Amino acid sequence: MASIIVIGAGVIGASVAYRLAQAGLAQGGASVTVLEATRIGAGTSGTSFAWVNSHGKTPRAYHDLNVAGMKAHAALRHEFAATPWLHLNGSLEWADEAGQAEQHRRFERLRDWGYAAEWISAAQLRELAPDIDPAAVGDAPVAWFPEEGWVDPVVYAHSMLAAARRLGARVEIGARVERVELRSGRVTGVTMADGRMQGADLVVNCTGRWADDAGFDPALRIPLAPTAGLLAFTPPVAVGLERLLKAPGCDIRPDGAGRLLVCRNDDEFDPATAPRPSVDLPEMRELLRRARAILPAIGPVELEAVRLGIRALPRDSYSAVGLLPQVEGYYAAVTHSGVTLAAVLGAAVADEVLRGATRPELATFRPARFFG
Ligand SMILES: Cc1cc2nc3c(=O)[nH]c(=O)nc-3n(C[C@H](O)[C@H](O)[C@H](O)COP(=O)(O)OP(=O)(O)OC[C@H]3O[C@@H](n4cnc5c(N)ncnc54)[C@H](O)[C@@H]3O)c2cc1C
Repeated sequence: MASIIVIGAGVIGASVAYRLAQAGLAQGGASVTVLEATRIGAGTSGTSFAWVNSHGKTPRAYHDLNVAGMKAHAALRHEFAATPWLHLNGSLEWADEAGQAEQHRRFERLRDWGYAAEWISAAQLRELAPDIDPAAVGDAPVAWFPEEGWVDPVVYAHSMLAAARRLGARVEIGARVERVELRSGRVTGVTMADGRMQGADLVVNCTGRWADDAGFDPALRIPLAPTAGLLAFTPPVAVGLERLLKAPGCDIRPDGAGRLLVCRNDDEFDPATAPRPSVDLPEMRELLRRARAILPAIGPVELEAVRLGIRALPRDSYSAVGLLPQVEGYYAAVTHSGVTLAAVLGAAVADEVLRGATRPELATFRPARFFG
């Protein structure tokens, strides 16, 4: 019986564990253990805008992978009795004058690539998001992407891990992997921070932004170039927003329990010099002001919290998914856009690891490219 260790319980590790446990059970043998250093969603998955999309993803292979990610999330509706993490209610986008030419170019490219996108009228906008102040949009063209949405990453990761456990996987929380053990170029297991050793035939690295941890052998590290982003959370507000909004200088989505999450999803700080997250940061106050101008029903509240998220960005910004070339028995699944990609990568990794498949959609995203 193959014994597999998955390191990390973010959206990627949880998806991989679920599909491995499922495929292992179907094939009558694979033991799956998830080892998570702190807690579910403690990493980037707990501080993500979590927009499920392939809006601005190029080149075509990366776009297609993200579209497959959107479809895999939607398909989970047929697999689980309830999918409380899934909010594929569509997204709305408008731009200021300076951004409209780029918005049109992107829109045309997406349509050419068969992506669901349409321009909508002011009346349609009112129907889709009645709480938006029309004055905030003015006469800007509004694009509607009906198949996009967002996932609540922590609810998703928790649900995938619970499903994995039902299928026989073991999930250890507070279990930090100190070292991956190698013998003659082959992975034999891991040593934990508490000194325990656990043997394995295969280790799957789902540690996200820790995938270049200096504690790992250099042959096992995925080179990263992480960036950081700030996320602002309102307290519960009386806004009836059901869609994700991409407005000039301000992205907004519901975050559950009546809260809104507001950010500039394309803002990139150097993690080493990023501002300390605080509701008093002038740029966070400005973000709230912009959100309030779009959704006046937010009212005169202050932000409840500001969090800093660090992106799990492989050095060339594309996913790194596959076996590492210089060792045997070590597979990496490390990526930005991991919320969009989680469901499809879980299935793809299980397919490759347990069924011996080679998934063509991953061909250009192999970690081998970093190990020339
Ligand atoms: C500001 C921001 C906005 C984003 N917006 C979007 C978006 O709109 N759409 C989208 O699709 N994606 C978005 N992302 C990216 C997405 O959130 C990430 O790609 C995804 O969460 C990565 O998930 P993960 O499971 O790989 O990593 P993580 O969630 O970081 O999980 C890794 C886990 O590994 C554990 N771990 C690390 N080292 C060890 C060890 N040695 N032993 C045991 N456990 C270990 C950590 O504790 C952690 O829980 C955004 C990210 C940020 C920061």
